[in-house]
Amino acid sequence: SLTAGIVGLPNVGKSTLFNAITQAGALSANYPFATIDPNVGIVEVPDDRLNKLTELVKPKKTIPTAFEFTDIAGIVKGASKGEGLGNQFLSHIRQVDAICQVVRCFDDENVTHVSGKVDPIEDIETINLELILADLETVMKRYDKVEKMAKQKDKESMFEFEVLKKLREAFENETPARAVEFTKEQQKYVKQLHLLTVKPMLYAANVGEDELLDIEQNEHVQRVKEFAAAEDAEVIVICAKVEAEIAELEGEEKTEFLQELGIEESGLDQLIKASYNMLGLATYFTAGEQEVRAWTFRTGMTAPEAAGIIHTDFQRGFIRAEIVSYEDLADAGSMAVAKERGQVRLEGKEYIVQDGDVIHFRFNV
Ligand code: GDP
Repeated sequence: SLTAGIVGLPNVGKSTLFNAITQAGALSANYPFATIDPNVGIVEVPDDRLNKLTELVKPKKTIPTAFEFTDIAGIVKGASKGEGLGNQFLSHIRQVDAICQVVRCFDDENVTHVSGKVDPIEDIETINLELILADLETVMKRYDKVEKMAKQKDKESMFEFEVLKKLREAFENETPARAVEFTKEQQKYVKQLHLLTVKPMLYAANVGEDELLDIEQNEHVQRVKEFAAAEDAEVIVICAKVEAEIAELEGEEKTEFLQELGIEESGLDQLIKASYNMLGLATYFTAGEQEVRAWTFRTGMTAPEAAGIIHTDFQRGFIRAEIVSYEDLADAGSMAVAKERGQVRLEGKEYIVQDGDVIHFRFNV
């Protein structure tokens, strides 16, 4: 499954946030093995639609879908040159699908900052530069050889070299690979390079516990938002310390605590949703009397592919899918009424599954 890696400079609140994630995962009866790998935290993806479906169908059991975060230890300035955990850090980041960068936006004299002052943009640039330098090194490892062959008019090398040149230029201008435009063909080649800066990134602005209610007042957060807007990245404002407290609560207790704090949704829940979206993930549902369940699929998947997420047999023996959109079903109030209204469709192999589809697969065993 896909995972988002949590990165950030030392002392910005990564461990505090990651502890909140593992705590939230540990509470989940559906994912009891959520913390077997100490660096991986599995959390449920909050989804109001699932609650509503549960009310409608009244199943014996409801199972949310899950999402994985990976804790990536200590990046420091010079990591790309082997400083700190250097190479180890970079190889861990290579294995994740998206990056969630925790940025310190809280002032606290008792917590030292690695560079002596709280400056989120400088922090972001430090980390982003390390990733870019690591990618530049990857590109340069091939560069001379490919250039030579391209000069000899080797077709494939000419194609490769064009891409490498474009990447090199971008990296030397401190631009990440994700901001560079490539053709479909070129993208395929870029993928094989396993670069770090092609991975989508979002920023988690970690604010002080007394600032949650008045984010507009936090200048650090405003600067992070401006920075992120320029690169089309999302910013989620969290207070890692408070998240650790929220993560110990469930249901009513959690709702009440959030009300006390004056926020609608916990920062962690927002972070889960944003990470999920960033990876192009979406949710479909199965809804029977035994079980109502949310399933993660990748946007663009066909009905048989989506069926294969439940079981490979479902994909192999796929006949048809009976589908009603969540909105239609919620509006109809029951499957029977949705059927009467003609809102339950029969779809075939070519159908592209949509977020919120409620699906009953028909298959041969
Ligand atoms: P890491 O090195 O990035 O993993 O940072 P930690 O999670 O260990 O946090 C470093 C220090 O900052 C710890 O003493 C935390 O208690 C403190 N800290 C983390 N988040 C917050 C926060 O939101 N507000 C305040 N005041 N302190 C925080």
